[in-house]
Amino acid sequence: MIPAAFDYVRAGSADEAISLLAEHGDEAKVLAGGHSLVPLMKLRLATPSVLVDVGRVDDLKYIRDEGDHVAIGALTRHRDVEISDVLRRDVPILAHATSHVGDPQVRHRGTIGGSLAHGDPASDLPAVLLALGATLVVQGADGTREVAADDFFQGFLETAVGEAELLTEIRVPKATGAGWSFQKFNRRAQDWAIVGVACVRRGDDQVGIGLVNMDSRPVHAAATEAAIASGASVEDAAAVADEGTEPAADLNASVEFRRHLARVLTGRALAEASS
Ligand SMILES: Cc1cc2nc3c(=O)[nH]c(=O)nc-3n(C[C@H](O)[C@H](O)[C@H](O)COP(=O)(O)OP(=O)(O)OC[C@H]3O[C@@H](n4cnc5c(N)ncnc54)[C@H](O)[C@@H]3O)c2cc1C
Repeated sequence: MIPAAFDYVRAGSADEAISLLAEHGDEAKVLAGGHSLVPLMKLRLATPSVLVDVGRVDDLKYIRDEGDHVAIGALTRHRDVEISDVLRRDVPILAHATSHVGDPQVRHRGTIGGSLAHGDPASDLPAVLLALGATLVVQGADGTREVAADDFFQGFLETAVGEAELLTEIRVPKATGAGWSFQKFNRRAQDWAIVGVACVRRGDDQVGIGLVNMDSRPVHAAATEAAIASGASVEDAAAVADEGTEPAADLNASVEFRRHLARVLTGRALAEASS
């Protein structure tokens, strides 16, 4: 439970963090809230030789109304997302889902950027961003680039963020007035989801659905989205929610139980988002 030895450097800005990452190469890791990285280090599943602490880069802590979307700085804490008036009004599913991340201690330390950059299929927020069709801004030495949420999550704990890059901003299209639902199935209130479903319905034939813990990376319920687009009923669309996914078995659930949960929770989410 004691991490391997590492050096620690604190960055004062995004630019400084990026040049520190470039200087130290693949041995370096960004430290944001530390609530995913430090547990991995304690188990020695991650052994970075240098931690670049961005926790005090205050320029990346904001939630801004940008007209058609809300821009969120990557270092914004979960708690600030949860209680944001702008998000509660214009992207309520994100504020609501964030209130189900861990417990108050986790939400006061963990950041939205850390949750996304970690790329864990069991995390709640990646599924919400897939459902919303968000865009992520990644900064490197040569400037910034925008990555669609659909292209961001590339494998188990693998994202589109390169070695000497920083996730700096999350752009979330407003969903004011859209139907939405977040379904999280877990044993105890503060636990990770065994399976979760995020659903945003913007019209009769337009729905975005992200799944938690149904594959090695955060994925859409693509078959359900296609079924709704072609006019299927909620029941028929939910019945194919697990199609094309490859969930794993673990101590909490078998593959078949996960598939069953995905179908049932998608049905509940679609019903709530359509009411
Ligand atoms: C007890 C406990 C319960 C939890 N329960 C849940 C839960 O129910 N649902 C859920 O979704 N999550 C849960 N979490 C995870 C929590 O949400 C973490 O805060 C989050 O996943 C990581 O955010 P962080 O800021 O702590 O990132 P860190 O741990 O600091 O970093 C995580 C990874 O992302 C990288 N990184 C961080 N920020 C950036 C950036 N801006 N640019 C590039 N790379 C970056 C780091 O290098 C590291 O690889 C739980 C955590 C704990 C400890």
